[in-house]
Amino acid sequence: MNETKKRYLFDHFKFIKTEAIDLGDGWFGIVRTLCEKLKALDIQSFEVIEIKEKDGDLCFYTKGVPERYRDNVKSLIEEAEIESKKTCEICGQPGYPRKTRYVTFIACRECIS
Ligand SMILES: [Zn+2]
Repeated sequence: MNETKKRYLFDHFKFIKTEAIDLGDGWFGIVRTLCEKLKALDIQSFEVIEIKEKDGDLCFYTKGVPERYRDNVKSLIEEAEIESKKTCEICGQPGYPRKTRYVTFIACRECIS
């Protein structure tokens, strides 16, 4: 993800405690929407400790979410994961899983041609 997008996330969502956001630009909107929803819950003292792509999956790990928010946070993250499964990680257009010999990633037709 480019520096401008990362900076936006760090500036707007103080609960992001990792410098390493290891994702393509195409998933920025998904992460931003997820973070806005988490922010709206107004949970005190929780952290996002990792945001990355692994084998075509969005991995978004949190720490310190109080018990009463856990189900809510979990379903918001799942929503984002479902969205990422059909969104090109490179450009954000509709995409679908591509398998190479070693990895799976989500991309649209234009981005891999
Ligand atoms: Zn694309």
